[in-house]
Amino acid sequence: MTRLFTSLFVVLSVVIACTTNPLSKKSQLTLLPESELQAMGSQQYQQFLSTNRVVSASNNRDAEMVKRVGQRIARAVETYYTQNGISEKLNGFKWEYNLVDDKAVNAWCMPGGKIVVYTGLLPVTQNEAALAVVIGHEVSHALLQHGNTRMSQGLLQQLGGVALSVAVANKPVETQNLFMTAYGAGTTVGIMLPFSRNQELEADRFGLIWTAMAGYNPQEAIPLWERMEKASQGQSPPEFLSTHPSEGRRINQLQKYMPEAMKYYRPVARN
Ligand SMILES: [Zn+2]
Repeated sequence: MTRLFTSLFVVLSVVIACTTNPLSKKSQLTLLPESELQAMGSQQYQQFLSTNRVVSASNNRDAEMVKRVGQRIARAVETYYTQNGISEKLNGFKWEYNLVDDKAVNAWCMPGGKIVVYTGLLPVTQNEAALAVVIGHEVSHALLQHGNTRMSQGLLQQLGGVALSVAVANKPVETQNLFMTAYGAGTTVGIMLPFSRNQELEADRFGLIWTAMAGYNPQEAIPLWERMEKASQGQSPPEFLSTHPSEGRRINQLQKYMPEAMKYYRPVARN
């Protein structure tokens, strides 16, 4: 009986916890207040930076490029949110962009706009526009609250659907690992939790829009994903693909999203 009530409670909580994302306008499971996730993001981000080799942007062109692209993507997102009357949804965002010296082909964005690019990604992106495509994709996962959904599912499955603060207090390590995994940054703990196909498509669609608004040619996404696919046949497949699965149909879908993105494209002069 108790078990039944517990199940009912969980089911009801899940129903109540479905919210409409301001960007996709779709209903999704978000048990956790975004503000709590942003606070945790801030903390986990600092911890990650302090235990990894951050490349200083003051004397490194790649690190400089990561900051420049990150800032341009952030401005694009802010412009879009303002134009659509939802700018207050970015209130908790404190964007940060860092390059870490790590050969993994990877990048991620935590809630609140905390972005990391690994040096191992750069030989695959090859140019600034393709890097914008990847950062745009990562930022979209954060904006679309995909991590919140994944974290919510994880809390339900692994920790019994308790509140985040309770989970942190009772099982700090498990909760932190779950968090890192939910945001695609959990490679160090050896567990991969791939984004769903729909989450990937949504992130691709909006990522192309941010790329175009930031002044980069979104069509660079096609050769980028071809290079990523090629890299996946090598000896060390990109970690990026284990969290962001590509099912071969990605290129076709990108082509379908391209006309929408191209409407936003205004090339900027660069030196
Ligand atoms: Zn993805």
